[in-house]
Amino acid sequence: MSDPAPFRSLRPWLLERFGRPVHRVALDAGSTCPNRDGSKGFGGCVYCDVEGSGTGALKTGAELEEQLAAGIRRVARRDAEGGVIAYFQSYSNTYVERARLREVLGVVEPYLGGDPVVAVSVATRPDTLPPEALEELARLAERTEVWIELGLEAADDRVLDDIKRYHTVDDFRWAVERCHDAGLSVIGHAILGLPGDGREGARRTADVLAETGVAGVKVHNLMVLRRTQLEKQWREGALEVLDADTYVQWLADFVERLAPEQVLHRVTGDAPIEERLAPRWDLHKNAIRERLVAELARRGTRQGSTRASSHRG
Ligand code: SF4
Repeated sequence: MSDPAPFRSLRPWLLERFGRPVHRVALDAGSTCPNRDGSKGFGGCVYCDVEGSGTGALKTGAELEEQLAAGIRRVARRDAEGGVIAYFQSYSNTYVERARLREVLGVVEPYLGGDPVVAVSVATRPDTLPPEALEELARLAERTEVWIELGLEAADDRVLDDIKRYHTVDDFRWAVERCHDAGLSVIGHAILGLPGDGREGARRTADVLAETGVAGVKVHNLMVLRRTQLEKQWREGALEVLDADTYVQWLADFVERLAPEQVLHRVTGDAPIEERLAPRWDLHKNAIRERLVAELARRGTRQGSTRASSHRG
């Protein structure tokens, strides 16, 4: 069944791709990242909540196996026919020795071939993909679909510096190219409303995601979470976040500029309200989705309508 929405949303695409509903099982391998261990910085990106991003405590193979097995049992209780995406979510999962990455990825082996794992998704940073990590991921990609989730966040090096990402837009471009060369699919992450980025920044970020040809996109509005560096700025009144109307406007601009075939995995954040200081408006994905549909209908546009390349003609 084709997707009637004016953008390519995840659920219908998954159904089309795998022929059955698919559910994500989030896994915490307990990795760290170069913005936390001092190799690039300490304290992390300004919006990153250390606990929310995972424990940071290295998990043994057995612990990881148990996380995955428990997640698979949970999915089976909800949907006996459902497939599973094993999602290594926390921190930079490829920022480890080759042997460790092999151990981590190895936990999915017994479940490959759709029984029930249909894909493996690995979150990491554009600057933590050494050749040996790509080789390990490419090896896994011979047996199942592998998605690499890479943070671009904003397509402006100055903004990336300000939020202490410590990588560049070109690092992102290069990482996507190398993933594609290795046969890996990429999901690019973006944040709208970062300090100093503005509406033009939202458009620019979509343009870069479209130009790099990533298969999927996750986007959300900037949120101020407890225990982050942004919390202090926000409490001092030095930071504003987008209201819901503005976010939907910028999101519509963003979606219009993506390529029509790129799958929108997410259009909002999912931080629990008790962890989220701002904004306080309803972030539920269905609420934002409906407002986005209405805004695109009002404009008479859809995903891909105003791609930068079509402007350049
Ligand atoms: S957002 Fe990712 S890269 Fe940034 S500090 Fe958190 S785990 Fe590290």
